[in-house]
Amino acid sequence: KLYNEVQDLKGNIRVYCRIRPFLPGQNQSHTTIEFVGDDGELVVSNPLKQGKENRKLFKFNKVFGQATSQEEVFKDTQPLIRSVLDGYNVCIFAYGQTGSGKTYTMSGPGLSSKSDWGVNYRALYDLFHISQSRRSSIVYEVGVQMVEIYNEQVRDLLSSNGPQKRLGIWNTAQPNGLAVPDASMHSVNSMADVLELMNTGLMNRATSATALNERSSRSHSVLSVHVRGTDLKTNTLLRGCLHLVDLAGSERVDRSEATGDRLKEAQHINKSLSALGDVIFALSQKSSHVPYRNSKLTQLLQSSLGGQAKTLMFVQLNPDVASYSETVSTLKFAERVS
Ligand code: ADP
Ligand code: MG
Repeated sequence: KLYNEVQDLKGNIRVYCRIRPFLPGQNQSHTTIEFVGDDGELVVSNPLKQGKENRKLFKFNKVFGQATSQEEVFKDTQPLIRSVLDGYNVCIFAYGQTGSGKTYTMSGPGLSSKSDWGVNYRALYDLFHISQSRRSSIVYEVGVQMVEIYNEQVRDLLSSNGPQKRLGIWNTAQPNGLAVPDASMHSVNSMADVLELMNTGLMNRATSATALNERSSRSHSVLSVHVRGTDLKTNTLLRGCLHLVDLAGSERVDRSEATGDRLKEAQHINKSLSALGDVIFALSQKSSHVPYRNSKLTQLLQSSLGGQAKTLMFVQLNPDVASYSETVSTLKFAERVS
């Protein structure tokens, strides 16, 4: 009953927009955000251009303005996350250009302060908290995986042998017969376990990169939380999976400038983000053919996109006028899938 609100959604796809604040030192006199409505309207415009046709209106399930705290964002995400305990598969991802706040929303700026925690830490914390207290006849087990997709290659970020290249997508040799991403699975029993794993993941991401920031903006990272609940009274089994995805930056790369590795990366990112858009579009149209197979990303997320699964996309915006054209293309991506 807790989850009615989310279950009633048309097609189970929900789109939230989040605008990040200006950063210290950024010129705040030219914002592209003209209006943020209470019920999901957003008007953007280019302040350096005149004319009404310059204004663009978009509509989301919700828009989080620049002053929105991590806690407020989580409040509107929590019901979705809790439905994993009822056996639903859920996928939450952040889309936007580099610097628009994807990592801030999903992970936060750091672990030092709990109030800064992003969706993934709060989600795990919440799942633990509930799984240990709420339904006494159900015993939950929680397993975590973390992978990175870079140039259409999947790497295990939690492998004890360091980051590994070229994994397959699925490991079907699981004891319960369920296909899960082909990466090491770590059972977690406390929030301390989770924090340790996340640190390992971040470190493995760093060691495989020449420059962490650069690399993290050009790869997708996927944190998968598998929950298994056994109801001791009825002897039934529930399984749910939560994928938390920090996507690669959506910015277009100028073909005339990018060469070699940079161009290859850009092509892979472009391909996988449009594959993701195509999948969600097909789902929103209730199309009979959903093109999951066009990228590693959509293959990996298949079980949590479509069917009974619930999907939430955070559309991240940078309010700076210099980002205006990227902002518009981000909003167009969102418009197509919502
Ligand atoms: P992305 O992952 O999309 O490249 P980041 O999450 O790294 O972007 O955000 C870029 C910068 O903006 C970081 O310094 C981050 O701490 C800051 N930032 C992003 N969103 C917010 C926010 N909601 N409040 C405060 N700072 C933010
Ligand atoms: Mg990032």
